[in-house]
Formats: sequence, C-alpha cells, structure tokens
Amino acid sequence: MPPVFRFAPSPNGYLHLGHAYSALLNHDLAKRSGGHFLLRIEDIDATRCRVEFEQAIYEDLAWLGIAWETPVRRQSEHFAAYRAAIDRLSAERLVYPSFESRADIARLVAESQAAGAWPRDPDGAQLYPGAAKSLSAEQRDRLIGQGAPFALRLDMAAACARSGSLRWQEAGEGPAGETGDVAARPEAWGDVILARKETPTSYHLSVVIDDALQGVTDVVRGVDLFWSTSVHRLLQELLGLPVPAYRHHALIRDAAGQKLSKSTQATGLRELRAEGASPADIRRLVGLP
Ligand code: GLU
Repeated sequence: MPPVFRFAPSPNGYLHLGHAYSALLNHDLAKRSGGHFLLRIEDIDATRCRVEFEQAIYEDLAWLGIAWETPVRRQSEHFAAYRAAIDRLSAERLVYPSFESRADIARLVAESQAAGAWPRDPDGAQLYPGAAKSLSAEQRDRLIGQGAPFALRLDMAAACARSGSLRWQEAGEGPAGETGDVAARPEAWGDVILARKETPTSYHLSVVIDDALQGVTDVVRGVDLFWSTSVHRLLQELLGLPVPAYRHHALIRDAAGQKLSKSTQATGLRELRAEGASPADIRRLVGLP
C-alpha cells in the first residue's frame, strides 16, 4: 500500500515560510515514495477561519508547484463524524462537561497557585483546575438544561487507566531530541477539552479522526505539535483507530530566531511573491533541494 501524507493548515491567516516548508516536505516525501499527498482544511474554529484565507491556501500551494488530491477534506463539513466520536466517549464515561468560564478558571488557578506551583501542559498552559468531574448527573443536566455554556473534557485519569501505556514511532525529533520509540505522556495535558457546546469537536479529536478516515500513514508536521501526539495516541486507542508513523520537523525561524506567525509580513508567501521571489527561491529559503 502506498503511503499517505497530508498537509493540514488552518485558514486563519496567510501561509508563511513555515507552512511552505511543511507542505513541500510532505509533498516531496509522497512523491519520492510513490505515495499520496492530501490537503486538509482545518476550519473548525468559525470565529477565526475565513474563506479568503482558504482560497489563498489553494493559490499559494499551487504557485509553489504542489498538487493535491481532491476532494479536499474541510473539517467544518464533518461535525457529525466528530460528534459521533464524542458520543462514543461519553457513553463510555470518559468525558464530562465543565461549566467554568475563562475567568473562573483563571481564579481557580490563582488560588491553587497560592498553595504551591500549579502544573502546566507541554504548551505552557495551566492544567484544568476545576472540579466539574465530581458534579452529579442531576447537576449537569440542570446546568445544561438552563443553557449554560460548557466544554466537554476528557477524564484523563480514566482514559489513561483504560488505555495503559502508549508509544509512537518518531522518525523526526522532539524538542529534546526524542526520536525512535517514544513513550506518550498524555497525563501531562490534564483533562483536555475535546468539544464545546457550540463546536462539537477540537483540534485533537478532529485530527485523529480525519487521519484515520483519510488513511493517513505518515504524519509529518512541526515540532510544536510533538507532545500533542501523546493525546492523539490516547484518542486513537480509545476510539480503536490505526496509528500512523510520525515525523516532527524543525520550525522555520525568522532572523531574530522567533517562531513565525501568520501576521509576520516579512516571511509571508504572498509578500515574498510580490517582491519577486520564485517557487525555487522559497525552496532555497526553507533549505529544501
Ligand atoms: N492545523 C494544524 C495547524 O495549522 C496542523 C495539524 C496537524 O498537522 O496535525 O497547525
């Protein structure tokens, strides 16, 4: 079976050199191995994603000389599939609704911190400090019935007890040089959000479902997502999904050594193109042959 690679941008801004590197790397690997190259539009966040950014993704990738298979999977068209997975995890009592606002959470963290350092996840955010897990079924039903906003969280302790220890095969490198057979550490993320009242999915949930549905065999993406793979492995295990091979690549940095952001004009593909750069120049700039 030929390998299946994918590039999965979020249309919440214009592509920059970091995206070009990731897309070209996936594309080159697929070509070299006689595999497939898929493009997936990760547009679940309706407040930040815009159609004009999606159009720009198609234009910029085509300009780079990248061809992808169609139809493109747009996550916003598949909420039912994500909801089905959430329902399954709910039926197994692995998710629970939490009702705290951002301000409530900040206050709880501050209180917990006063009693000692409060743990942070691999992205630096403080772990969920709330006690919603211990609400009774009646309390939950009453709050939901009243129309209270909520987030559906994974009961990490229960999920890890169910899955046992997990590993993945890493062909690239983690932030501290982790490579080869890597032990997943999903507990480091605490009770992550898998869905919200108004959005029945999250990055973690939709990415594992889509990678499985699209038959992705090789996930090649930036090292900033390295430790997210722990959560992805856990969800794959809980949902009975196949496990792709992973390869996390270094991030392209700007002249000051900073990670690129979608608002950094200097490294935007559209700006570089307007200044006369060619696709070959972009390849050289990101260090690809
Ligand atoms: N949509 C994610 C991003 O824009 C990438 C997801 C992935 O490659 O797993 O960073």
